[in-house]
Amino acid sequence: MQKPNIILINCDDLGYGDLACYGSPVNKTPALDRMAKEGIRFTDFYMASPVCSPSRGAMLTGCYPPRIGFGSFDGKWVLFPGMPIGLNPSETTTATLLKEAGYATKIVGKWHCGDQPEFLPTRHGFDSYYGIPYSNDMGRQKEDDVYPPLPLLRDEEVIQAQPDQRGITERYVEESVRFIRENKEKPFFLYFAHMHVHLPHYPPARFVAESENGVYGAAVAAIDWAADVLFDELQSLGLDDNTLVIFTSDNGSRARDEGGSNAPLRSTKGTTWEGGQRVPCIMRWPGVIPAGTECNELALSMDLHPTLDAITGATLPSDRTIDGKDIRPLMQAEKDAESPHESFFYYKRNSIEAVRSGQWKLHIRKDDEEIQQLYNLESDIGETENLYEQHPEIVADLQIKIDACRRELGDDATGISGANVRPIGRVENPDTLTHYDPEHPYMIALYDLKERG
Ligand code: MG
Repeated sequence: MQKPNIILINCDDLGYGDLACYGSPVNKTPALDRMAKEGIRFTDFYMASPVCSPSRGAMLTGCYPPRIGFGSFDGKWVLFPGMPIGLNPSETTTATLLKEAGYATKIVGKWHCGDQPEFLPTRHGFDSYYGIPYSNDMGRQKEDDVYPPLPLLRDEEVIQAQPDQRGITERYVEESVRFIRENKEKPFFLYFAHMHVHLPHYPPARFVAESENGVYGAAVAAIDWAADVLFDELQSLGLDDNTLVIFTSDNGSRARDEGGSNAPLRSTKGTTWEGGQRVPCIMRWPGVIPAGTECNELALSMDLHPTLDAITGATLPSDRTIDGKDIRPLMQAEKDAESPHESFFYYKRNSIEAVRSGQWKLHIRKDDEEIQQLYNLESDIGETENLYEQHPEIVADLQIKIDACRRELGDDATGISGANVRPIGRVENPDTLTHYDPEHPYMIALYDLKERG
């Protein structure tokens, strides 16, 4: 059989409760609901970080952020334009390995793993790149010229500054369709990283008109439309049965007043409560993944890297630790398949804040504050009833797991450096990809919204 094509769709800040098939009563997502009906829906799928850059670096390398120097970015949460740091060129991404295995590889959309040439997708296994390399609120916005003009890149070249964000998803979809058509004869890997639903919201007018949840619902509809087009294209090219499509989100919703939701989970993006890191994940691969299935086992975005390598016959490097595991038994809904993970550690920057093992989750810290809270996620998904005092033996066991992780990956809060971590990439004399020029004919010199995500 020909190696399967892989399409990995990653949304920005889409919450656990934002899709109809995950319980949203307000957003309309017929294409993704259909995808779930025809594939598998994960209920306990986690990103390795509650914010963008570390989440993306971890997913693409199969490693916890501190493992690859992505816990903190010279003290910042995420990468900002023109920083001298990024994903170390010595790391291997899913694209690196699939390219070696004979795949055509492309990323469309948000990269956010470094904007200096050494860190761009084209240096990390992607044959080509088309997209905005970081968050869409890092351009020139109303009453604010902190950042240089928002760049749109083709490969390593800026082809437009300050594009109209309302048209970005349509342009991303067109680019993706073109890539799929051009590579329909050979296996391809498309990483489609949406701009939506990160603030500020600039969804297409049609979806705003149809939305019952304001611009947020419209941004979700744009994501759903994009999936619909990709599935339609696969169908018409006869690639449907030989393509694995994965849909997920880089972290939870901000879920404040913009219309996003992490229901029924607690809290938001940027936190190590469930709402920060547990995200939607749907996989569809006709004939391999049984239709209409659900997986309630612990699964991680870091698992995608080793799993895709196993599926495609790529070879993981043997000279380094990879945290993710092959989860084919889970995605293929094999009888009695169990999570390969005994525990999952929630890091914020370079400090451990919580651990989950089975149904139990122990919180030990929230930012600078030490806390002692234990929840049974199976009976209390919303983390409402603290059982810390009732189960000292479970707390002790989870504390041992945390101690072991501290020694391995480090923990800034307790001053422990990790025994097995690798450095972030660093260059001399960084520069931003764009510079504001008042004479340049920008489409939109200053975006008219000032919200930041
Ligand atoms: Mg994000």
